[in-house]
Amino acid sequence: MRLPFSRPRPVHDTVVTAVTPLTSAMVRITLTGPTLPALAFEQPTQWAKLTVADPAGAPVSRAYTVRHHRPGPGEADFDVVLHGRGPFARWAAAARPGEPVRIAGPRGRLRTPEGAGHLLLVADESAQPAALALLAALPRGFPVLALLETGLPQDTLPCRTAADAAVHWLPRAGTGHRKGELLLESVRDAALPPGRGAAWVAGEAGAVTGIRRHLLGERGFEREGVRAKGYWKAGEADHRGGAEQ
Ligand SMILES: Cc1cc2nc3c(=O)[nH]c(=O)nc-3n(C[C@H](O)[C@H](O)[C@H](O)COP(=O)(O)OP(=O)(O)OC[C@H]3O[C@@H](n4cnc5c(N)ncnc54)[C@H](O)[C@@H]3O)c2cc1C
Repeated sequence: MRLPFSRPRPVHDTVVTAVTPLTSAMVRITLTGPTLPALAFEQPTQWAKLTVADPAGAPVSRAYTVRHHRPGPGEADFDVVLHGRGPFARWAAAARPGEPVRIAGPRGRLRTPEGAGHLLLVADESAQPAALALLAALPRGFPVLALLETGLPQDTLPCRTAADAAVHWLPRAGTGHRKGELLLESVRDAALPPGRGAAWVAGEAGAVTGIRRHLLGERGFEREGVRAKGYWKAGEADHRGGAEQ
């Protein structure tokens, strides 16, 4: 039974048209479909549930950020981390043009706090599609510190923004750190501009919780100024903690 407050999400049946390697551990999956010109994509960081078939034909649904939407040709890009363990990551590593993908969404609304004078952006690989889309949409000259964790030093992505952004790529390779630990360390060490700030933080759920706690406790961020979301959780398949937005 569908509860009255769970809105049905628009569904788009699409196929893969291109699979483009972006880094050693990320591919861009480009999808097209007859209804994709009408994808209701309005804001950076919006995401959709993508459903694919695993090798046994069973459906696998996971949340992915809409990286680009091109209404004209009816195309959308989703950038997928090849972390190797989950069924969706394995599907993406082997995906080929012509494979079917169902898109449900997009979902999510970005709430921007009133009067923030600067933005702290913190993201691991899973949240970089959202973080980079957000950077691209910020107003000219807006002060931003972006801390972006990667695997290898060369695993950086193009970053286009008119904001006054200091973008730091933080490679884990050789540090002995697990995913997310470098982000927490870097946020603790970061020199933030004075004045009221906002923060957007996403990635591994445990790291995100630690960063949020630090920003609210030791850095004096206001609760409504910190947008923190676990995009996945170490040791947990299909983590749902981040599914509401
Ligand atoms: C709103 C939202 C937007 C998201 N956008 C993106 C996006 O644009 N690109 C993207 O790649 N991911 C994104 N994610 C994260 C993605 O949904 C999860 O990583 C998902 O769990 C991957 O599914 P899977 O089948 O590969 O692994 P699962 O079956 O969910 O998990 C299997 C194992 O892999 C581990 N795992 C899951 N994800 C990762 C990871 N990234 N790194 C290392 N280990 C992992 C789990 O801890 C578990 O042990 C987003 C999540 C949310 C909530």
